Amino acid sequence: MKKCPLCDSELKREERTTHYTYKDKTQEILQSGEYCVACGEGFLSSKDLKASQKQIADFKRGVDHLLTTDEVRAIRKKLKLTQEKASELFGGGVRAFHKYEIGENTQSRPLDILLKLMDSGKVSVDDLQMVG
Ligand SMILES: [Zn+2]
Repeated sequence: MKKCPLCDSELKREERTTHYTYKDKTQEILQSGEYCVACGEGFLSSKDLKASQKQIADFKRGVDHLLTTDEVRAIRKKLKLTQEKASELFGGGVRAFHKYEIGENTQSRPLDILLKLMDSGKVSVDDLQMVG
């Protein structure tokens, strides 16, 4: 049994609902972690934090009308680009798309618009290579 470092009581792995507010919109975020049954303190691993980071990023992007993490990934795959190749093509550093897809960073609005145009077939990878 894992023990709470603060009060020595039992820690249980569970998901807790927290409310996250962004630009006057509020969303429930599920935060998994180990929580103390006595003092209620939560202990989050980097995996727990990554999972909620993605939920928070997707919520904010929804409010801002930007593509979600999964939508960015789906469009990149539809264009048959690896994360590295996409980052090279669109700029932003070699790990740019990795970060957009895990919610660590959010794509700029111009890039978001470009990805939507490419998703609908109005702009192709060849078009980008011609102007680049
Ligand atoms: Zn405790």
